[in-house]
Amino acid sequence: MKGADMATQSEVSRMSTADIHALNKAHVIDTYGKRKLAFVRGKGMSLWDAEGREYLDFFAGIAVVGLGHCHPAVTEAIQQQAQRLVHVSNLYFIDAQVVLAKMLCEHSFADKWFFCNSGAEAIEAAIKLVRRYWWQKGTPKPTIVTAHDSFHGRTSGAMKATGQPKLHEGFEPLLEGFKYVDFDDVNALEEALTPDVGAVLLEPVQGEGGVRVPSASYFSEVRNLCDARDVLLVLDEVQTGLGRTGTLFAHTQYGIAPDIMALAKGLGNGVPIGAMGCTEEVASGFSVGSHASTFGGNPLSSAAAVATLRTLLEPGFIEGAAAVGDRFAAALNDLKSKHSSIVEVRARGLMIGVEMTKAVSPLVDAMLDAGIICGPAGAKVLRFLPPLIVTGGQVDRVVSALDDALSTF
Ligand SMILES: *Cc1c(COP(=O)(O)O)cnc(C)c1O
Repeated sequence: MKGADMATQSEVSRMSTADIHALNKAHVIDTYGKRKLAFVRGKGMSLWDAEGREYLDFFAGIAVVGLGHCHPAVTEAIQQQAQRLVHVSNLYFIDAQVVLAKMLCEHSFADKWFFCNSGAEAIEAAIKLVRRYWWQKGTPKPTIVTAHDSFHGRTSGAMKATGQPKLHEGFEPLLEGFKYVDFDDVNALEEALTPDVGAVLLEPVQGEGGVRVPSASYFSEVRNLCDARDVLLVLDEVQTGLGRTGTLFAHTQYGIAPDIMALAKGLGNGVPIGAMGCTEEVASGFSVGSHASTFGGNPLSSAAAVATLRTLLEPGFIEGAAAVGDRFAAALNDLKSKHSSIVEVRARGLMIGVEMTKAVSPLVDAMLDAGIICGPAGAKVLRFLPPLIVTGGQVDRVVSALDDALSTF
């Protein structure tokens, strides 16, 4: 790098994929196994790489950019907020944050919110709140039950909550007080609810674990069990939330409400923000000094989230996305009858997994060659998480490209 002039916006925007790849290799810790692609511009459903090739985005930055890239309402909110005030810390009231909290309260079970910067941080807040809640009631119940194949994030506590031993490897000793049960198995959960258990933490649909949709009655039975045993129900809606599964939050489709909910991914349409919501009663577990975040819900991220939520809540927006999701799932099921490499199609709204007979990485590459971005969920599940603005025509294009790719898979 040749001094400070390299860092100007125009210099950065002129870098080629090869330039970016070289700097990444030299200076960024390789924890991802990235594809050799650099997207430098986006609009709606489209992304452009550094050489100007256009791609149709069916992954939305891992279920983040629900409104599509650079949505005008969010861009305008970011621009206006950036000119007015970017950051002040949570030592002072924040106008956009309280508006966001009020909107989230009006559209969910929750009475109170804590803001942070990511999904893992929202889960950490939930873990701390559960422990603190039972402790301050004088009946400590430190154990949290989570599911095998779950995913709750990569910070130390969220990693321990994640029921995937391969993600724990080499990081021991881990946080104590977790046990795991099979997802979608009520009997296993009932057995696990010993008197030391203070909460059950689950994803409404397991995302990273392979888009696992539970049976219809699972969550109402989980809720009943939690009530009967005086255990809090924590839902990780980091991926399923904000319209992804066809309703603003996935749990309403099960006819239940949790005591605590974690949000992040889709909340700021790409501006990092996480949130933990809970009932008034459970919120009493935290008091001044219990928990904090320097950046959490700062003016910029809160303004982006307010604009995102306002757009998501426009009449018919999420319903329209759900209808396109149904069309997508139906077309994928048609493909299943044609290609024996498809084991199962699992879908809820625009959270869609196609389980294959073998590793899907070459399939992701073939789709990229066809100009379509999708991704894996574990080794053998191809996952589609398009922005909620996706059209039926775009779905047809992707299904046809997948049909082609499968003929040589
Ligand atoms: C992505 C994800 C997380 C972690 O979010 P980060 O923002 O990466 O920390 C937690 N839970 C679920 C269900 C997720 O999909």
